[in-house]
Amino acid sequence: MRTTWSIGRAFGIEIKVDSSWLIVFGLVTWSLARSYFPEEYPSWETWLHWAIGAVTSILFFASVLGHELAHSLVAIRQGEKVRGITLFIFGGVAELTEEPDRPAKEFLMALAGPLASLVIAAFFALLWLLTRNFFEPVSALGRYLATINGSLALFNLIPGFPLDGGRVLRAVIWGITENLRLATRAASGVGQAVALLFIFIGILQVSAGHWINGLWIAFIGWFLNNAALSGYRQVVMRDMLRDVQVDDLKAATYEAVGPDLTLQKLVDDYVLRRREHAYPVVEEGQLEGIICLHDVKAVPREKWEATPVSEVMTPWERLHTVSAGDDANTVLSRLGAHDVHQLPVVEGRRLIGMVHRSDVISYLQLRSTLGA
Ligand SMILES: [Zn+2]
Repeated sequence: MRTTWSIGRAFGIEIKVDSSWLIVFGLVTWSLARSYFPEEYPSWETWLHWAIGAVTSILFFASVLGHELAHSLVAIRQGEKVRGITLFIFGGVAELTEEPDRPAKEFLMALAGPLASLVIAAFFALLWLLTRNFFEPVSALGRYLATINGSLALFNLIPGFPLDGGRVLRAVIWGITENLRLATRAASGVGQAVALLFIFIGILQVSAGHWINGLWIAFIGWFLNNAALSGYRQVVMRDMLRDVQVDDLKAATYEAVGPDLTLQKLVDDYVLRRREHAYPVVEEGQLEGIICLHDVKAVPREKWEATPVSEVMTPWERLHTVSAGDDANTVLSRLGAHDVHQLPVVEGRRLIGMVHRSDVISYLQLRSTLGA
């Protein structure tokens, strides 16, 4: 089960925290307060270990956020859309609605994160140097955060996809060969090699008795390996989807309703009979909107008899649509970006079909069953 909370916005980007992040935040604070600071600064009192531990932990996650914001801001400058940044167990991830379409774009976006981490490291190193002779708690915090941000930059620069360094490598190979699939295969190959190395080192550590460290390193390796594999699969799929047109995907038949139909009739005659969740609303051949179960449920049941569909539907002005010539990638990214289950296929304002999330999936299943 995954739960995420929105904690605010920065530069128009939504910042979210995954529940797994709370565990890591607790662990980092605990290990700083109980082990790192007491060992390095035994003269402090216990409350100071905890206070500096907690502040350091918060600043550490703020640094991770800074790294992801750097990726996102460069992406936005390059004309990409960023859905949000999520902090989770392994750090942070910026969600782009679409993958970069040019190698130069990906190169800059990937490099921005580690560069930001280096700048943050330099800032904390400066803080450490400026305060070390007269304010030990702050200098201790600065020293730790300079080291951790420096390591974060170096770790992310490892040239294995999907780490930032791997994305840089992919962009370079992509730029030279103009073949994204080949570039991804090479970069995720390096990523898998790095992942296996991590797992190997983790096992060595465990057998040497360093349980926690070893398991953690192996765990990161396992995560990297999965990410490298699925990153490559995604590119292969996107390549495949490029040849699939909306025309191939759209359902052959769909049921449209008129704007004056009441909600009660819609439920009785359409929703319960056909078990579809959403219906296009059409009048005189023109698409007026879409009505879905969600809209119906927002109206109290006793008003269903008297409420026409046109009153609660999503109107044309706010609809997201595709046209017959679009490819399946466009369909998937629009479904995802707007978090909807279906898109009307239109020619101008004339409805020519509906394409559902499940249409894309069943089409892909069919193709793979046929071995195509
Ligand atoms: Zn990064």
